[in-house]
Amino acid sequence: MSTPLSVRDWSPAAGREPVVRIGIVLDEDGDAVVRVKTPTAPCRLDLGAGPTRVLPPGTAVIATMAGGGLRVQVGNEAAVAAPLARVVPPEGELTPDGGARVHDVIAGRGFHWQRRIDVTLAGVVELRPGRRGVVLVNELALEDYLAGVITAEMSGACPAALLEAQCVVARAWLLALTEPKHTDEPYDRCNDDCCQRYQGTDDLNPTALGAARRTRGVLLLTPSGGVLDANYAKSCGGISETPVAVWGLEKPGISPVVDAPPNAPERRFFPVTEANLDEYLDGDWVRTTRCYCSPNVVPVEAIGRFLGRVDTTDDYFRWTKSYGREELEALLRAKLGDADGLVELRDLRVRARGVSGRAYIVEAEWRDARGAPVVRRIESEYRIRQVLHPKFLYSSAFAVRPERAADGRLTRVTLRGAGWGHGVGLCQIGALGMALCGHDYETICRHYYPKAALARVY
Ligand SMILES: [Zn+2]
Ligand SMILES: [Zn+2]
Repeated sequence: MSTPLSVRDWSPAAGREPVVRIGIVLDEDGDAVVRVKTPTAPCRLDLGAGPTRVLPPGTAVIATMAGGGLRVQVGNEAAVAAPLARVVPPEGELTPDGGARVHDVIAGRGFHWQRRIDVTLAGVVELRPGRRGVVLVNELALEDYLAGVITAEMSGACPAALLEAQCVVARAWLLALTEPKHTDEPYDRCNDDCCQRYQGTDDLNPTALGAARRTRGVLLLTPSGGVLDANYAKSCGGISETPVAVWGLEKPGISPVVDAPPNAPERRFFPVTEANLDEYLDGDWVRTTRCYCSPNVVPVEAIGRFLGRVDTTDDYFRWTKSYGREELEALLRAKLGDADGLVELRDLRVRARGVSGRAYIVEAEWRDARGAPVVRRIESEYRIRQVLHPKFLYSSAFAVRPERAADGRLTRVTLRGAGWGHGVGLCQIGALGMALCGHDYETICRHYYPKAALARVY
């Protein structure tokens, strides 16, 4: 067996699969105790010092924080202090239930759907002391990790081409390791939406496993041969966005696309501007469009069936969110905290948009106690979505439609919008639409990343 290659040292020239370290229980979770049950095969226990030993299947290993260090209890033995504990299984085929079992792991960290679940982890399970709690790292082959990611990101009932495309994109995003995340932690990426959702092997199914196997080593490269930082989002709404409009930075190889068949009439909306915005959002064309992420290609109920976790009350291709003036004022005051002394909201307007219509500068015009106008800016796509909804607005591609009383005062503001998410890179609902139309994963990847190259690098 060759020495494992870390994703941090990996490049396309390496020619082989790296191992990835995923944070499962994080320091920030503050878990004083973590319980692991060893895999269904005998595995090796390494306590960081002294000889390793073999543990029978199903042995309980309990790690506890004590005095800033780690104490490890194996089965019914007395707990001992150790710098770390590594449970190392024998090498073998990935199976859904053969791995180590870890109890009460947080899923959906920081979101309203946060809960605790039990997970099964293939590969090495490593326990370390953190500052606030025990840290659990899962070290495993990248391809095994990816099979878990695609089953956590979407349902195994999806068409194979969609799962394959998702796998290629997740592989490229992980290997690009562009965004500086968790730099001071003993893992490369975490297990949640902050990075990519990964919940071990419990939901693994033959479709997802097949998709990972068929695309093994396939990823997207930038024009200069680097790994593409392949962003993706739920629905572009018809046109995808540039990284500059969303994050203020260039990403080589990522360019916006019209999410429709070649030469489709929808191309006339590129780029979306104030002049064509109303027609883009509500023109008659919307009822019959063959845009891949439109409900004509992917019915709303199919989104729920294939992508899971959807608020089925709405349609993400086009949506509406409406506020009475006082309701919107209360929202802005609560979210911005810079509205003291401001008496009444007079206007809300978009000052800058990207090519998909996604706003990145919004202005709220207020009137102060003396009747003078005061303008407050909301900058960045993320901040706009955070501020203009009690939770999070579907996207920042919206038109502001104000209603006014006879004296011109604002009474209501309606946001009419398109898409779900930042809209950069692959559109997951559109990719589902392409797969339902019979396109293969290569066609899907080339459609969303026309300037990138598909290559099998190991
Ligand atoms: Zn993360
Ligand atoms: Zn789309």
